[in-house]
Amino acid sequence: MPRSHGADIDGLIQLLSRLPGLGPRSAKRAALQMLKKKDSVMVPLARALADVAERVVTCTTCGNIDTHDPCHVCADARRDRATICVVEDVADLWALDRSESFRGLYHVLGGTLSALDGVGPEDLNIAGLLARVDAGGIGEVILALNATVDGQTTSHYLAERLKASGVKVTALAHGVPVGGELDYLDDGTLAAALRARGSVE
Ligand SMILES: [Zn+2]
Repeated sequence: MPRSHGADIDGLIQLLSRLPGLGPRSAKRAALQMLKKKDSVMVPLARALADVAERVVTCTTCGNIDTHDPCHVCADARRDRATICVVEDVADLWALDRSESFRGLYHVLGGTLSALDGVGPEDLNIAGLLARVDAGGIGEVILALNATVDGQTTSHYLAERLKASGVKVTALAHGVPVGGELDYLDDGTLAAALRARGSVE
């Protein structure tokens, strides 16, 4: 098979095609664009990748990914520190924060309970959440889990576990399609779901 690029560039394309949203064809286009714009794109990108790769950490407080621990969200004194929004994944945290409809703190669980996949409470960052609430100063915990069966099971489990602490527990209003993931919702829908959140019994 004729090859139009050498082994090194081929390797670069292979790596790029592992990224979400980039198939082999768009990976090839991205690689070519970088090579053509070496000084303005490729070199700064390579430096940024190496820099972030070296310093990336998981926030020991909330589970966010950042180059600082505590992360920039936990360290932000202007935020409402009495409200914690619980999400499944860092992508959900980023989506909610992008929507600018929530200015409190977050807690990333790292997934949902799943009997099918053998995911139990000890596999998620639940102990960390309970510890934060037990430490005091928290007035409300908003459960912003996805509207999937596992997401809702996890939501109920957390509400039950948080009951003893006496903290107010609310959940996102899901006017969103079942199975809809937060990351894919537009900012307006996210903001509406937050505003219309209700207490969890
Ligand atoms: Zn954090």
